[in-house]
Amino acid sequence: MSAFDEKQAIEAVHPQLLIGGQWRDAEGGKTFPVEDPSTGKTLVEVADGTVADGKAAIDAAVAAQKDWAATPPRDRGEILRKAFELITERTDELAMLMTLEMGKPLKESKAEIAYGSEFFRWFAEESVRISGRYSVAPNGATRLLTLKQPVGPVLMITPWNFPLAMGTRKIGPAIAAGCTMVVKPAGLTPLTMLWLGAVLAEAGLPDGVLNIITTTSTGEVMEPIIRDPRLRKLTFTGSTEVGRSLIEQSAQGLLRVSMELGGNAPFLVFADADLDKAVDGAMLAKMRNIGEACTAANRFIVHESVAEEFATRLTERMQGLSVGRGTDDDIDVGPLVEAKQRDKVAELVDDAVQKGATVLTGGSAPEGAGYYYSPTVLTDVPLDARLTKEEIFGPVAPIFTFADEEDALRMANDTEFGLVAYAFTQDHARAIRVYEGLETGMVGLNQGIVSNPAAPFGGVKASGFGREGGAEGIEEYLETKYVGIAL
Ligand code: NAP
Repeated sequence: MSAFDEKQAIEAVHPQLLIGGQWRDAEGGKTFPVEDPSTGKTLVEVADGTVADGKAAIDAAVAAQKDWAATPPRDRGEILRKAFELITERTDELAMLMTLEMGKPLKESKAEIAYGSEFFRWFAEESVRISGRYSVAPNGATRLLTLKQPVGPVLMITPWNFPLAMGTRKIGPAIAAGCTMVVKPAGLTPLTMLWLGAVLAEAGLPDGVLNIITTTSTGEVMEPIIRDPRLRKLTFTGSTEVGRSLIEQSAQGLLRVSMELGGNAPFLVFADADLDKAVDGAMLAKMRNIGEACTAANRFIVHESVAEEFATRLTERMQGLSVGRGTDDDIDVGPLVEAKQRDKVAELVDDAVQKGATVLTGGSAPEGAGYYYSPTVLTDVPLDARLTKEEIFGPVAPIFTFADEEDALRMANDTEFGLVAYAFTQDHARAIRVYEGLETGMVGLNQGIVSNPAAPFGGVKASGFGREGGAEGIEEYLETKYVGIAL
């Protein structure tokens, strides 16, 4: 068992709304249960926010905006830096909390904490580098000054799969830029965000800069905030389907919008690949976060000359993983987040098998409590299987084969999504052709992970628009103003 006590981790959270610096119950006192996916049991009841609570949250963000924008950049950066340190010190406590509500093993929770907290350190450093430009107009008659100002109050809606990092990569740059915010974490995993709200307050974040609303009436509570003319930006991470409807709602107010949506990552292995590296990369790209990642490899597209060896080696590695409750330090694969998710994975595998795929390992859900699905490798997967088009979001690796490079690229790009692709080759010229030809926002070349706070994360096509992290990340929260100056 882990060093940190489960009960203590839950008790460290205010299961309430954070509005204007106050922890408060939802209007009417309603609550909803947060469940442990490894047992199906309730961990704690959390405030179930209403439309009036949502209005109070945006009121608080609007009220705090002017003073917050005027706070010196260094002070904003210091708050982020302090929060980074507090999160790092309390990694064990937060890891336990995240594992309990989301199911991922403790080592995965710790990896997310290292990644997610790094957005605060990165944007603490960026906060003091917001700059403008001064130039002479081409005709010499005027001077052109450009300056950057915070966008204003932002609504952030985040998913359950990375309950910390999907929040910090929005909150970090917003704080650095001088924006206030209302954050709506996923109903399945609200505890991590509530924990983070308390840590940011302890780090010195003024009241009202960050407001957190948890609710089960999600659409009903979010829509009035999105349509509120005082809101300046909506940033969303989640499914493409919900993203589309939020864009429609935001069109009326001409909101600035960032969308980090679904993926269907191809993982290409060429005949000249270093197979040791490719198998290591495959395990990371597939099994990070139990496959519940938008960046998860969804289709392994392998040259026919190495496909059998790749499949055998991947199968051995998948069979070596330990499956169980994530609170145990030795576990590699925890339960999926809820029964619906486990059933969807099972449906996609059954569909592929019915259409002719061969199961090399796994292929079913183990008996007993919790929403587990066994690590699975499929070969001979037909191109009309549903999982070629849909996100699996689980520990399932389907392998397809190709004959030449052009084929591989065509198969890789044959999806509405365009978040990330992985390619393994030792041929330099091929690598260039491939990363230039892939229709994605990110490419992992000879590596199975791309997430890095210092790099711009984001997609093209139905995977969305906008970038989080890197030098680009803070631009999403800044407006450019130009001043023409007469001589
Ligand atoms: P989801 O169902 O779209 O939910 C995401 C968030 O949107 C949750 O907070 C959810 O609240 C909220 N939401 C749902 N319906 C809404 C509505 N009508 N109005 C306003 N908000 C609404 O996605 P998910 O299942 O949590 O997350 C998995 C998806 O996220 C996958 O497709 C994955 O690829 C994508 N993802 C993308 C990235 C990226 O960076 N591109 C990163 C991580 C995940 P409730 O929880 O209350 O329903």
